[in-house]
Amino acid sequence: MTAQIIDGKAFAEGLRGRVGTLAASFAAAAGRKAGLAVVLVGEDPASQVYVRNKGKQTLACGMESFEHRLSAETSEADLLALVDTLNADPAVDGILVQLPLPAHMDEQKVIAAIDPDKDVDGFHVINAGRLAVGLPGFVPCTPLGCVMLLKDRLGSLAGLDAVVIGRSNIVGKPMAQLLIQESCTVTVAHSRTKDLPEVVRRADIVVAAVGRPEMVKGEWIKPGATVIDVGINRVPAAEDGKTRLVGDVDFASASAVAGAITPVPGGVGPMTIAVLLRNTLVAAHRNAGIDLPQDAL
Ligand code: NAD
Repeated sequence: MTAQIIDGKAFAEGLRGRVGTLAASFAAAAGRKAGLAVVLVGEDPASQVYVRNKGKQTLACGMESFEHRLSAETSEADLLALVDTLNADPAVDGILVQLPLPAHMDEQKVIAAIDPDKDVDGFHVINAGRLAVGLPGFVPCTPLGCVMLLKDRLGSLAGLDAVVIGRSNIVGKPMAQLLIQESCTVTVAHSRTKDLPEVVRRADIVVAAVGRPEMVKGEWIKPGATVIDVGINRVPAAEDGKTRLVGDVDFASASAVAGAITPVPGGVGPMTIAVLLRNTLVAAHRNAGIDLPQDAL
């Protein structure tokens, strides 16, 4: 079997298009654009790239982008004061503090300071709690993007066996919650799981969010399963000094067995920012008291 490729890049482009259309009607109705504030502390090169891309795509969707770049030496108190200012700013619908933060800052404390109704990353404990009990709230962008790709490919996920590898607060845990909401039978595997290949072999849906290059092998995959590879790992390429991106799944062997699979790059990666923009638009509608048609996004 040769797996169908799940084209996250194309799906994300479509989602950004829908966000752009609705952002224009929001601006007309509200008399202002939806706004996303992104805070970057320090000079982490990967974070700088993410923040630049977020800013560009926010503007391209017809939304306002407010970037705050702080030095790595900024005190936690100053960062918390900025978050307070953004919480109170009516032009700001969504606030994202780019992680990781420098070691002298307490990430949980900073996330807790964000108004949960502007927490478009969905990392605040209030939003994690809302997700756990099935209340509306903001859901972390990467796992929400994975579910969108899965539903687009499979339709209803009800009754399917899903294995999520990884239990981080950002990907693994919310992913498991979302799949439970979709009526999957969910297993969460992690670094202490016994016989991971056997656990993965039971799954109709495999979501790999581990951070280990090409760890999940084709012989672990049930024939026809749908494989969502969240991993982004930079590894040395064959050529001198060059690097390339690979996922947590060994694409060559897995794509020979799976029914469908996301590539890296071009699978889950592009979904994250597209969902962030979607969440920001949802926040803007709520903040302005304007209805957003159900299922518009
Ligand atoms: P993390 O390091 O916080 O969590 C990794 C998880 O993998 C842990 O729960 C751990 O228990 C589990 N794990 C580690 N070794 C394991 C093993 N040998 N067997 C089974 N489980 C094991 O990572 P994260 O933030 O969840 O990110 C995971 C991957 O997803 C990374 O490659 C990251 O770069 C990528 N990521 C991509 C996006 C995106 O936009 N596509 C967003 C977030 C994370």
